[in-house]
Amino acid sequence: MANLQNGLQSCPTRIDGAPVLFAHKVSAGQCQDRQRGQYHKCFTCAYNNLYVAKHGRPLPTRVVQKPSPLAMKVG
Ligand code: SF4
Repeated sequence: MANLQNGLQSCPTRIDGAPVLFAHKVSAGQCQDRQRGQYHKCFTCAYNNLYVAKHGRPLPTRVVQKPSPLAMKVG
């Protein structure tokens, strides 16, 4: 999903919503560059140009940072 704060999108974002083992954040330009290079994960991705033309872009999400359960207040 695209992030509202920085516009980056998770690569890949599976069409079926399944979690992926390895994902990272890319800009829209990087995404287009990878698609032109026929990146092997693009065809099952919700940011694939063919999929977006038919269904629209995935909705952006807001990242909510939760406090770490390991964080301790010292002092
Ligand atoms: S379309 Fe391809 S490059 Fe773009 S986010 Fe999906 S997997 Fe990554």
